[in-house]
Amino acid sequence: MLNYEVRSGRSTIEGTGVFAAVRIPRRAKIGEVTGEIISIRTARKRAKGKCRMCLIDLDHAHALDCTGGNALRHLNHSCGPNVFMRIFRQRVEIYAKQDINAGEELTLDYGETPHDDGMLCRCGHRECRSRI
Ligand SMILES: [Zn+2]
Repeated sequence: MLNYEVRSGRSTIEGTGVFAAVRIPRRAKIGEVTGEIISIRTARKRAKGKCRMCLIDLDHAHALDCTGGNALRHLNHSCGPNVFMRIFRQRVEIYAKQDINAGEELTLDYGETPHDDGMLCRCGHRECRSRI
């Protein structure tokens, strides 16, 4: 579910990233990360060897496995992100934190998500905390 066109592509931060295909105004809801709603129990079993964005905790009992989901699953982390995530009624909504130009990579602060595995950060932002 996307309100603004985005595309995935090679990121200068890490692997594949998501890029705005059009200009996205500040506070706009970009879309929702789609996927399969599973139990936390199943999520913990699947988590091994998966990327950080692949499993998102929705509430105390459910998680979203977005392995087969839309392009938003490729959101990279930045310590100076331009989008933020809001989890509402088991939906993972992505909003623009600022005006985003077409072609800009969309980044999210993983520190604001329940997944925190202590990875080194390579976002290159001037306020980088160097750890996720
Ligand atoms: Zn960083």
